[in-house]
Amino acid sequence: MIAAAGSGQRLGAGGPKAFVPLAGRAMVEWSIVACRAAPSVRSIVVACPPGHVHDLAGGDVGVVDGGATRAESVSNALEAVGTELVAIHDAARPLVTPELIEDIVATLVTDSEAAGAIAATPVADTIKQAMRPPFTTPEVAKGARVIESTVDRGALWAAQTPQVFRVEALREALAANPERLAAATDEAMMVEAAGGRVLIHPSPAENLKVTTQLDLKLAELVLAERGASGA
Ligand code: C5P
Repeated sequence: MIAAAGSGQRLGAGGPKAFVPLAGRAMVEWSIVACRAAPSVRSIVVACPPGHVHDLAGGDVGVVDGGATRAESVSNALEAVGTELVAIHDAARPLVTPELIEDIVATLVTDSEAAGAIAATPVADTIKQAMRPPFTTPEVAKGARVIESTVDRGALWAAQTPQVFRVEALREALAANPERLAAATDEAMMVEAAGGRVLIHPSPAENLKVTTQLDLKLAELVLAERGASGA
């Protein structure tokens, strides 16, 4: 399942991020290409933003309307899923490979106690917890903050997608806490909160998330290096 219904405001491309041109294709199509080439993927469903459903309809890809939040988009698409496992992927990560999808599926299926397995990468930066000071200066208005502490990064991972789950465990977890669901930034956090065991598969650094124009340029470069064809 590909979540592609975000507005993409931070990218500033004047339209939904998933449909921004990237190396000759709409960004979401790179994820579709990777999913098609992954042997364990049986069918693909994409949650699309309003006005873009017809851009993908008609082929081998199922299309559903996205929702106002990411969780709503995922819930809509989940209704179309009839398999035992589901891989959820963000269209904003167009550099996903079939190998990464297969590795995460393999990580999950080798642990029968696990409810899910996700791509994640160890945090490379030193992480600070910071707060807004109780006064306002021009610097504070621009985002300056006061450090409260340094977090031990040894155990910290940045969660990515794909995230693969046993569908039953995912459905139960999403239904368990509707209030938390509305603000969820990934599905693993819902499964974790429901007591499910979620595994990490270390992902390559190039599985980046396109958020800014710089990310878009980096993604173009990686695709060019791979010799990926947008034709
Ligand atoms: O906004 P952000 O980049 O965190 O979104 C992550 C993914 O979730 C993107 O691929 C985006 O298209 C998707 N999304 C969605 N429906 C929304 C909001 C985001 O499918 N309402």
